[in-house]
Amino acid sequence: MGAPGQRSNDAGAAFRAEVRAWLSAAPRPDGLHDYGGTPEVADVPAGRRWHRLLADAGYACLHWPSEYGGRDASVREQAIFAEEAARARVPRQLNIVGPDLAGPVIMRFGTPAQRERLLPGIRSGDHLWCQLFSEPEAGSDLASLRTKARQDTDGWLIDGQKVWTSAAAVADYGLLIARTGDERHKGLTAFVVDMSLPGITVRPLRQMDGESKFNEVFFTGLRLPVEAVLGAVGQGWSVATATLGQERLSLGAQAVGMFEALRTVADAARDRDRLDPLLRDRIIRLWARIWLLRDTWLRAVGTDPEPSSSAFSVLKLMSSEIYRDLGDLATAALGVDALVAGAPLVQRMLVGRAQTILGGTSEIQRNILAERVLGLPR
Ligand SMILES: Cc1cc2nc3c(=O)[nH]c(=O)nc-3n(C[C@H](O)[C@H](O)[C@H](O)COP(=O)(O)OP(=O)(O)OC[C@H]3O[C@@H](n4cnc5c(N)ncnc54)[C@H](O)[C@@H]3O)c2cc1C
Repeated sequence: MGAPGQRSNDAGAAFRAEVRAWLSAAPRPDGLHDYGGTPEVADVPAGRRWHRLLADAGYACLHWPSEYGGRDASVREQAIFAEEAARARVPRQLNIVGPDLAGPVIMRFGTPAQRERLLPGIRSGDHLWCQLFSEPEAGSDLASLRTKARQDTDGWLIDGQKVWTSAAAVADYGLLIARTGDERHKGLTAFVVDMSLPGITVRPLRQMDGESKFNEVFFTGLRLPVEAVLGAVGQGWSVATATLGQERLSLGAQAVGMFEALRTVADAARDRDRLDPLLRDRIIRLWARIWLLRDTWLRAVGTDPEPSSSAFSVLKLMSSEIYRDLGDLATAALGVDALVAGAPLVQRMLVGRAQTILGGTSEIQRNILAERVLGLPR
């Protein structure tokens, strides 16, 4: 038992050292900062240049098979890379959707021609992708989506609306799920959308933190060619479920930034003479939860789990709720200074609210854990 674990630890340590050395030496494009999984419009030029450096060094699309230019990285190696990138305060890649969601489903469901046409641009960072799933009446209950795709003589005609589409305003391609039939799941089909086509209107949404990372997207008579279908007609639900969960591989890596943020919160409270026993207690409790997150994550990735593993529901729940509570604690530490708009700690509180919604809400994660792990009734 001990020897293989030891070997994988050694391999992990060697990979970590290699990544850390590269990240510390790599030049930083002007304006690069750790913008998370999705860049703002202004972040895209630096994000693209950074992604190209990662691709040239073999660190873009680590988890992709080598035949597509990846490195066949294990979950553990992906996790190490995510943690080292967080430590170095740089994004892991241009954005999440292309490398983590679209790429793997194109490999699995795409035709050889689609793979050849679409994968190189994702790997190089030339093509930024968005995920066109959620609609005003279809979020957690994605299968109730209503955007319609109708077949006509030379392809498909798309009409409908998507919402909360991260990076749609800067995306070159979108992965769309649309309704092609009446059956709830079997009536869904996946499409690759060239976002420059006529018939697409993208309207940025202003978030309460002042940024505009996500958008409304309207399709009015959008014409797509036959070869835009990804997988078979009616296979959209399988494509959609295959993408969900992929982004969770890096969840525990957030612990690195959280420890730092917690230290900043404690300093802010001390500077304002607000470090009373009550606040101290909240800081310590959160510190313990961040340790638990990191430890749970290390244990989970050590077993190289499938992205659909319920371990990731636990991690999603832990990381998003700690993120949110850290923001709330920051405002308590700042006191009246929290009213100063734009302060980084206030920003953290505002962004924290989104964490428990995106990628599956906390309530949905609890449902999954209750039903799949604890065997409780629906
Ligand atoms: C920052 C951010 C980025 C996003 N980016 C994208 C993107 O790029 N592409 C995309 O397609 N979508 C994106 N989303 C949308 C996201 O997937 C949805 O917001 C999420 O699935 C929830 O759907 P909803 O907002 O429609 O809420 P609803 O599903 O309407 O839920 C409303 C409330 O009801 C609760 N609820 C719903 N169903 C149940 C249930 N069965 N049991 C218990 N409680 C339930 C929810 O937990 C929630 O509290 C993004 C969201 C955010 C916040």
